[in-house]
Amino acid sequence: MAEERESSNFIHNIIDCDLENKTYGDRPVYTRFPPEPNGYLHIGHAKSICLNFSTAKKYGGKCNLRFDDTNPVKEDTEYVESIKGDVKWLGFQWDELYFASDYFDKMVDCAIALIKKGSAYVCDLSAEEIRMSRGTLTEPGRESPYRNRSVEENLRLFQEMKEGKYKDGEKVLRAKIDMASPNINMRDPVIYRIAHASHHNTGDKWCIYPMYDYAHPLEDAIEQITHSLCTLEFEDHRPLYDWVLRELDWEMPPQQIEFARLNLTNTVMSKRYLKALVDSGDVEGWDDPRMPTIAGLRRRGYTPSAIRDFCDRIGVSKANSTVDISLLEHCIREDLKTGVESRMVVMDPLKVVITNYPEDITEEVDIENNKEIEEMGSRKVPFSRELYVERDDFMEVPEKKYFRLFPGNEVRFKGAYFLTCNEVIKDGSGRISELHCTYDPETKSGSGFEGRKVKGTIHWVEAKTAVPIKVRVYDYLMIEGEKGENVMNPDSLRIMDAMAEPALADASAGERFQFFRLGYYIADQILYSENHRVFNQIVDLKSSWKK
Ligand code: ATP
Ligand code: MG
Repeated sequence: MAEERESSNFIHNIIDCDLENKTYGDRPVYTRFPPEPNGYLHIGHAKSICLNFSTAKKYGGKCNLRFDDTNPVKEDTEYVESIKGDVKWLGFQWDELYFASDYFDKMVDCAIALIKKGSAYVCDLSAEEIRMSRGTLTEPGRESPYRNRSVEENLRLFQEMKEGKYKDGEKVLRAKIDMASPNINMRDPVIYRIAHASHHNTGDKWCIYPMYDYAHPLEDAIEQITHSLCTLEFEDHRPLYDWVLRELDWEMPPQQIEFARLNLTNTVMSKRYLKALVDSGDVEGWDDPRMPTIAGLRRRGYTPSAIRDFCDRIGVSKANSTVDISLLEHCIREDLKTGVESRMVVMDPLKVVITNYPEDITEEVDIENNKEIEEMGSRKVPFSRELYVERDDFMEVPEKKYFRLFPGNEVRFKGAYFLTCNEVIKDGSGRISELHCTYDPETKSGSGFEGRKVKGTIHWVEAKTAVPIKVRVYDYLMIEGEKGENVMNPDSLRIMDAMAEPALADASAGERFQFFRLGYYIADQILYSENHRVFNQIVDLKSSWKK
């Protein structure tokens, strides 16, 4: 398990000041994680989850899970359920579970209050006309001809919008702020729109839906959130967030604080893009082990503690940057190094016959389960005259510094004996089909033999008892295209027919192992045939992570 560090960041500094100044009186520090249920969560969301929940924990406060479900067309209960599962799997428990749609009545009351103050009006311009009259960064916008409707007329029209008298897009409710504001978000933004659409929670009760920038501050305020943490792209929306609560005279309003979103090399993190991959069939689903979703990482074999450790190491800042994915890989490697047992698996089998080993004997050799942790004990592995080794571990004509099998060379077979390769057998097409070797019985592992040393140690499995397995070996789903953009990697998945030592036959779904010399793997939930497991590669052994 990765150690839990108590980290500090600029957000905690702000909270420290608020506590000292009693900005929120005696109220506890209160945060929330507010996903829109329009897809599965990804590793970027994990950063936000860790930040929100750990901040609440640090201050003895609270953290809600809130579904920001104000956009009925894209939302679905499938996503609600997956998000709940993912947050729990990451190791967090929310204090309260809410839906923004729980507050639709309250939000309408607030809109009416704004209308009564003269701070909101019903506008008949189309979306396109509103866009055209919004102005630019250098030019102010134009005021809507409907801007000066009377309070009475606005109240009546808003009521009619709510009752379903108008079609989608026919009218909107806009905040009346300032068409000349240097911040375009403040140029009379739309706060309610008409959408005759069924909502996953409220069904057909509503045909008007609040816009995010209006709804979000209200959701936070209603839940007594103190610190509303969001990503940097909302920085320009903060004046509107504050405007809504100020206009409504909200006491001790929450404050929005922005932090940099997580970007990862070789990774696209947008629910919209990930959904397109799922819908097009380019991946097997939201939990495809190549996906950066929490569901994908889980199936890939990542542990919750490795993901939390990663979020902790990347920290929280105001500056956008891209984190090298090798850091994430480093975190899972660190977690598994001391946590899982080792097994021998041969990915691309080449048969070895030990010509001087008796035909009718199978002995059992003892191999440790984890090189670093003695207490994890050892297991018995069968060894006999016929074995498999990796095709890669033999070279007919060795290159320089090649210490594995080649004609005339002696190597150590992990946990067993020294073997010397004497003869190479080829089939009709010239492909190597077998190696004939001899072993030296004096060299048995653990016997204290010190006669001579060999430079190479390779792994093997015994042929008669070998268990066929399928292994899915992964490369990144996204690679860099010609212009430095992310493009799909056509070779992100290879399926190998491998041979494993018998102990792997009993692996149950979700069990993780180190495949000796190869990497870390997890038994998938699928069997490819009776008792034959499919294993997913979690990560290879070598780290490319540099501090
Ligand atoms: P996407 O763009 O992938 O669809 P989103 O921001 O629309 O993500 P939400 O459901 O709105 O998804 O996100 C919930 C919370 O997670 C928000 O507070 C958002 O800021 C945060 N979040 C989303 N992506 C990241 C990221 N890459 N890094 C950090 N936080 C993120
Ligand atoms: Mg969003």
